[in-house]
Amino acid sequence: MIRLIDVQKTYDNGTRALKGVSMRIEDGEFVFLVGPSGSGKSTILKLITGEVSCTEGRLMVNGYNLNNIHVRQIPYLRRTLGVIFQDFRLIEKKTVEENLTFVMRVVGASPREIRKRVSYVLQLVGLDHKGDRLPTELSGGEQQRVAIARALVNNPQVIVADEPTGNLDPQRSLEIMMLLEKINELGTTVLVVTHEKELVNRFSKRVVAIENGRIISDGMGGYYNNES
Ligand code: ADP
Ligand code: ADP
Repeated sequence: MIRLIDVQKTYDNGTRALKGVSMRIEDGEFVFLVGPSGSGKSTILKLITGEVSCTEGRLMVNGYNLNNIHVRQIPYLRRTLGVIFQDFRLIEKKTVEENLTFVMRVVGASPREIRKRVSYVLQLVGLDHKGDRLPTELSGGEQQRVAIARALVNNPQVIVADEPTGNLDPQRSLEIMMLLEKINELGTTVLVVTHEKELVNRFSKRVVAIENGRIISDGMGGYYNNES
């Protein structure tokens, strides 16, 4: 569960990125976080991953109280989260399989667990036949699928995606969103930041709209559905 209570974030240079944001995401939900550039979307994601801390308010993520989390606990918080970026961020010198194996080794998984899980997630994202390729040998859509597999490999409670389709064409973007929807149906909470209105409107999901550091609408259905 993710819970923000009246969260404010002012950066060191005085920019007020969030001006009092309250939001609750239950386990198993699929949520789009939308809004124009500079509205505070990335700041919300960075608060959730523990990359930045809030100036005011309260923040709880998967059982961790981020208001008084110890730096030593941050890696454990992060293991409950799978993060996906616009630019994929795969290790270019490693094959698809090695990219996944690597993140499981870091958390101390056994070789047997690693083999089983890597094969399962690659199959889930439709890339079981491309485990031995390098990321550069794959299309953008395929690279994002690898990034999704990597985010999933340690079985996080929540997938957090920051503009995951920003570098993809419309068809590939739709496929990536459908894959995230499938992952959500299998039980993982999904939070997707995007400004792609048409894409959001193709799914009947909860949409939290943020503008100028405040939530302006939160509900099922389309982008900015409370504005009309
Ligand atoms: P979005 O993801 O919606 O584009 P951000 O959360 O990145 O918005 O940014 C919200 C506001 O905070 C913007 O005005 C941005 O310039 C500012 N901001 C973001 N990161 C920093 C930072 N590290 N230092 C200062 N200002 C920042
Ligand atoms: P995004 O595309 O995710 O919204 P941005 O272009 O807003 O990213 O920001 C890219 C990086 O620069 C982020 O790490 C953000 O924290 C930082 N940043 C954004 N705005 C500012 C700012 N005004 N001052 C300093 N850092 C900023």
